[in-house]
Amino acid sequence: MSSFFNNPASSLLGIDDIMKQDKKESSINIENNIVENTAVNDNNLSKQERLDRLKASFAECNKCGLASTRTNIVFGSGNAETRLMFIGEGPGADEDAQGLPFVGRSGQLLTKMINAMGLSRQQVYIANIVKCRPPANRDPLMEEAQACIGYLRSQIQIINPEIIVCLGSISLNFLLQPEGKVKLGISKLRGTWQDFYGYKVLPTFHPAYLLRNPSKKREAWQDLQVVMKELGLEVPKSSE
Ligand code: SF4
Repeated sequence: MSSFFNNPASSLLGIDDIMKQDKKESSINIENNIVENTAVNDNNLSKQERLDRLKASFAECNKCGLASTRTNIVFGSGNAETRLMFIGEGPGADEDAQGLPFVGRSGQLLTKMINAMGLSRQQVYIANIVKCRPPANRDPLMEEAQACIGYLRSQIQIINPEIIVCLGSISLNFLLQPEGKVKLGISKLRGTWQDFYGYKVLPTFHPAYLLRNPSKKREAWQDLQVVMKELGLEVPKSSE
Protein backbone atom coordinates (compact mmCIF):
# COMPACT_ATOMS: atom_id res chain seq x y z
CA MET A 1 0.00 0.00 0.00
CA SER A 2 2.83 2.39 0.81
CA SER A 3 4.12 1.99 -2.75
CA PHE A 4 0.91 3.68 -3.89
CA PHE A 5 2.65 6.93 -3.01
CA ASN A 6 6.32 6.21 -2.50
CA ASN A 7 7.66 4.33 -5.48
CA PRO A 8 11.21 5.60 -5.93
CA ALA A 9 11.94 7.48 -9.12
CA SER A 10 14.71 4.99 -9.92
CA SER A 11 12.05 2.34 -10.51
CA LEU A 12 10.91 4.35 -13.52
CA LEU A 13 14.20 3.70 -15.29
CA GLY A 14 14.37 1.02 -17.93
CA ILE A 15 10.63 0.69 -18.32
CA ASP A 16 10.41 2.23 -21.78
CA ASP A 17 10.85 -1.05 -23.60
CA ILE A 18 8.00 -2.54 -21.60
CA MET A 19 5.73 0.36 -22.37
CA LYS A 20 6.66 0.68 -26.02
CA GLN A 21 3.85 -0.23 -28.33
CA ASP A 22 4.75 -3.31 -30.33
CA LYS A 23 1.34 -4.28 -31.57
CA LYS A 24 0.53 -3.99 -35.24
CA GLU A 25 -1.61 -1.07 -36.28
CA SER A 26 -5.11 -1.51 -34.97
CA SER A 27 -7.64 -3.12 -37.23
CA ILE A 28 -10.31 -2.25 -34.70
CA ASN A 29 -12.72 0.20 -36.23
CA ILE A 30 -14.59 2.16 -33.61
CA GLU A 31 -18.06 3.27 -34.62
CA ASN A 32 -18.62 7.01 -34.78
CA ASN A 33 -14.90 7.60 -34.90
CA ILE A 34 -14.61 11.09 -36.36
CA VAL A 35 -11.14 10.36 -37.69
CA GLU A 36 -12.79 8.73 -40.69
CA ASN A 37 -12.22 10.54 -43.99
CA THR A 38 -9.78 13.07 -42.60
CA ALA A 39 -6.03 13.46 -42.92
CA VAL A 40 -5.86 12.38 -39.31
CA ASN A 41 -6.35 8.82 -40.53
CA ASP A 42 -3.14 8.76 -42.60
CA ASN A 43 -1.19 5.70 -41.43
CA ASN A 44 1.95 7.09 -43.05
CA LEU A 45 2.09 9.65 -40.25
CA SER A 46 3.35 8.90 -36.74
CA LYS A 47 0.76 8.54 -34.01
CA GLN A 48 1.87 11.86 -32.52
CA GLU A 49 1.46 13.57 -35.89
CA ARG A 50 -2.01 12.11 -36.23
CA LEU A 51 -2.91 13.27 -32.72
CA ASP A 52 -1.59 16.73 -33.57
CA ARG A 53 -3.81 16.83 -36.65
CA LEU A 54 -6.81 15.68 -34.66
CA LYS A 55 -6.15 18.36 -32.05
CA ALA A 56 -5.91 21.03 -34.72
CA SER A 57 -9.12 19.79 -36.35
CA PHE A 58 -11.31 20.89 -33.44
CA ALA A 59 -9.37 23.84 -32.03
CA GLU A 60 -12.44 26.07 -32.52
CA CYS A 61 -15.04 23.43 -31.65
CA ASN A 62 -18.43 24.71 -30.56
CA LYS A 63 -20.42 21.52 -30.94
CA CYS A 64 -21.81 21.82 -27.43
CA GLY A 65 -22.57 24.50 -24.87
CA LEU A 66 -19.30 24.01 -22.99
CA ALA A 67 -17.57 26.00 -25.73
CA SER A 68 -19.02 29.24 -24.36
CA THR A 69 -17.48 28.92 -20.89
CA ARG A 70 -14.13 27.26 -21.53
CA THR A 71 -10.75 28.95 -21.39
CA ASN A 72 -8.89 26.14 -23.16
CA ILE A 73 -9.77 22.89 -24.86
CA VAL A 74 -8.04 20.14 -22.89
CA PHE A 75 -7.10 17.66 -25.58
CA GLY A 76 -5.02 15.17 -23.60
CA SER A 77 -1.35 14.56 -22.94
CA GLY A 78 1.24 11.84 -22.77
CA ASN A 79 2.93 9.27 -24.95
CA ALA A 80 1.22 8.54 -28.25
CA GLU A 81 3.02 5.18 -28.44
CA THR A 82 1.90 3.96 -25.03
CA ARG A 83 0.18 0.70 -24.14
CA LEU A 84 -1.83 2.34 -21.35
CA MET A 85 -4.44 5.12 -21.42
CA PHE A 86 -6.26 6.75 -18.51
CA ILE A 87 -9.63 8.39 -19.16
CA GLY A 88 -11.33 10.82 -16.81
CA GLU A 89 -14.63 12.67 -17.16
CA GLY A 90 -13.64 16.27 -17.93
CA PRO A 91 -11.37 19.20 -17.10
CA GLY A 92 -11.64 21.14 -13.86
CA ALA A 93 -10.60 24.72 -13.16
CA ASP A 94 -6.84 24.07 -13.14
CA GLU A 95 -7.05 21.99 -16.28
CA ASP A 96 -9.17 24.61 -18.05
CA ALA A 97 -6.64 27.31 -17.13
CA GLN A 98 -3.61 25.32 -18.27
CA GLY A 99 -5.11 23.34 -21.15
CA LEU A 100 -3.74 20.10 -19.70
CA PRO A 101 -5.55 17.12 -18.14
CA PHE A 102 -5.28 16.19 -14.46
CA VAL A 103 -3.02 18.98 -13.22
CA GLY A 104 -4.96 19.95 -10.05
CA ARG A 105 -5.18 18.05 -6.76
CA SER A 106 -6.80 15.04 -8.43
CA GLY A 107 -4.10 15.13 -11.06
CA GLN A 108 -1.40 15.09 -8.41
CA LEU A 109 -2.93 11.95 -6.93
CA LEU A 110 -3.24 10.39 -10.40
CA THR A 111 0.47 11.09 -10.93
CA LYS A 112 1.23 9.28 -7.67
CA MET A 113 -0.92 6.35 -8.77
CA ILE A 114 0.94 6.15 -12.09
CA ASN A 115 4.30 6.45 -10.32
CA ALA A 116 3.28 3.68 -7.91
CA MET A 117 2.90 1.45 -10.96
CA GLY A 118 6.55 2.17 -11.76
CA LEU A 119 5.58 4.48 -14.61
CA SER A 120 5.66 8.19 -15.33
CA ARG A 121 3.02 10.40 -16.90
CA GLN A 122 5.28 10.66 -19.93
CA GLN A 123 4.90 6.92 -20.49
CA VAL A 124 1.09 6.81 -20.50
CA TYR A 125 -1.63 8.89 -22.16
CA ILE A 126 -4.30 10.81 -20.25
CA ALA A 127 -7.52 12.18 -21.74
CA ASN A 128 -11.11 12.97 -20.79
CA ILE A 129 -14.62 12.24 -22.04
CA VAL A 130 -15.33 15.95 -22.64
CA LYS A 131 -12.56 18.32 -23.66
CA CYS A 132 -14.04 21.51 -22.18
CA ARG A 133 -14.74 22.27 -18.53
CA PRO A 134 -18.31 21.85 -17.30
CA PRO A 135 -19.20 24.97 -15.25
CA ALA A 136 -18.67 24.64 -11.48
CA ASN A 137 -17.19 21.20 -12.09
CA ARG A 138 -20.60 19.62 -12.58
CA ASP A 139 -20.86 16.26 -14.34
CA PRO A 140 -20.92 16.44 -18.14
CA LEU A 141 -24.43 16.27 -19.59
CA MET A 142 -25.41 13.45 -21.89
CA GLU A 143 -25.60 15.77 -24.91
CA GLU A 144 -22.16 17.23 -24.13
CA ALA A 145 -20.57 13.80 -23.81
CA GLN A 146 -22.25 12.60 -26.99
CA ALA A 147 -21.05 15.69 -28.86
CA CYS A 148 -17.47 15.19 -27.69
CA ILE A 149 -16.99 11.43 -27.46
CA GLY A 150 -15.92 11.11 -31.11
CA TYR A 151 -12.70 12.99 -30.35
CA LEU A 152 -11.84 10.54 -27.60
CA ARG A 153 -12.71 7.58 -29.77
CA SER A 154 -10.37 8.95 -32.39
CA GLN A 155 -7.60 9.36 -29.82
CA ILE A 156 -8.07 5.74 -28.75
CA GLN A 157 -7.97 4.47 -32.31
CA ILE A 158 -4.82 6.45 -33.10
CA ILE A 159 -2.96 5.46 -29.91
CA ASN A 160 -4.25 1.88 -30.03
CA PRO A 161 -3.48 1.12 -26.38
CA GLU A 162 -3.64 -2.37 -24.93
CA ILE A 163 -5.40 -1.21 -21.81
CA ILE A 164 -7.72 1.69 -20.98
CA VAL A 165 -8.24 2.60 -17.33
CA CYS A 166 -11.54 4.43 -16.78
CA LEU A 167 -11.36 6.76 -13.80
CA GLY A 168 -14.76 6.85 -12.14
CA SER A 169 -18.29 5.93 -13.15
CA ILE A 170 -18.87 8.89 -15.47
CA SER A 171 -15.88 8.00 -17.59
CA LEU A 172 -16.90 4.34 -17.58
CA ASN A 173 -20.52 5.00 -18.49
CA PHE A 174 -19.90 7.53 -21.26
CA LEU A 175 -17.22 5.35 -22.83
CA LEU A 176 -19.09 2.05 -22.70
CA GLN A 177 -22.71 3.25 -22.63
CA PRO A 178 -22.80 6.53 -24.58
CA GLU A 179 -26.54 6.12 -25.10
CA GLY A 180 -27.03 5.85 -21.34
CA LYS A 181 -29.14 2.70 -21.62
CA VAL A 182 -27.68 1.04 -18.54
CA LYS A 183 -26.05 2.64 -15.52
CA LEU A 184 -22.76 0.88 -14.86
CA GLY A 185 -21.78 0.99 -11.20
CA ILE A 186 -18.13 1.67 -10.48
CA SER A 187 -18.17 -0.08 -7.10
CA LYS A 188 -19.42 -3.27 -8.73
CA LEU A 189 -17.27 -3.19 -11.85
CA ARG A 190 -14.01 -1.72 -10.54
CA GLY A 191 -11.07 -4.04 -10.99
CA THR A 192 -12.88 -6.21 -13.56
CA TRP A 193 -12.13 -6.32 -17.26
CA GLN A 194 -14.63 -4.70 -19.60
CA ASP A 195 -14.59 -4.56 -23.39
CA PHE A 196 -14.63 -1.57 -25.71
CA TYR A 197 -14.38 -2.64 -29.36
CA GLY A 198 -11.73 -5.19 -28.43
CA TYR A 199 -9.82 -2.88 -26.11
CA LYS A 200 -9.40 -4.07 -22.54
CA VAL A 201 -10.99 -1.57 -20.17
CA LEU A 202 -10.42 -1.61 -16.43
CA PRO A 203 -12.55 0.73 -14.28
CA THR A 204 -11.29 2.11 -11.00
CA PHE A 205 -12.14 5.01 -8.72
CA HIS A 206 -11.60 8.61 -9.82
CA PRO A 207 -8.73 10.34 -7.95
CA ALA A 208 -11.16 13.05 -6.79
CA TYR A 209 -13.27 10.34 -5.13
CA LEU A 210 -10.13 8.90 -3.54
CA LEU A 211 -9.27 12.32 -2.12
CA ARG A 212 -12.70 12.40 -0.48
CA ASN A 213 -12.56 8.72 0.54
CA PRO A 214 -8.95 7.84 1.29
CA SER A 215 -9.93 4.42 2.66
CA LYS A 216 -10.77 3.44 -0.94
CA LYS A 217 -7.16 3.89 -2.06
CA ARG A 218 -6.41 0.29 -1.13
CA GLU A 219 -9.03 -0.96 -3.60
CA ALA A 220 -7.76 1.40 -6.29
CA TRP A 221 -4.25 0.10 -5.77
CA GLN A 222 -5.56 -3.47 -6.14
CA ASP A 223 -7.13 -2.42 -9.46
CA LEU A 224 -3.87 -0.91 -10.68
CA GLN A 225 -2.06 -4.12 -9.81
CA VAL A 226 -4.43 -5.99 -12.14
CA VAL A 227 -3.33 -3.60 -14.89
CA MET A 228 0.35 -4.03 -13.99
CA LYS A 229 0.11 -7.80 -14.21
CA GLU A 230 -1.60 -7.59 -17.59
CA LEU A 231 1.18 -5.31 -18.85
CA GLY A 232 3.89 -7.59 -17.45
CA LEU A 233 5.04 -5.00 -14.92
CA GLU A 234 6.48 -6.19 -11.64
CA VAL A 235 4.12 -5.83 -8.70
CA PRO A 236 5.92 -5.17 -5.39
CA LYS A 237 5.62 -8.34 -3.31
CA SER A 238 4.52 -6.40 -0.24
CA SER A 239 1.53 -5.09 -2.22
CA GLU A 240 0.09 -8.42 -3.38
S1 SF4 B 1 -16.76 19.69 -24.93
FE1 SF4 B 1 -16.08 18.73 -26.83
S2 SF4 B 1 -17.86 18.93 -28.23
FE2 SF4 B 1 -18.16 20.41 -26.55
S3 SF4 B 1 -17.29 22.32 -27.33
FE3 SF4 B 1 -15.68 21.27 -26.14
S4 SF4 B 1 -14.51 20.10 -27.67
FE4 SF4 B 1 -16.46 20.67 -28.62
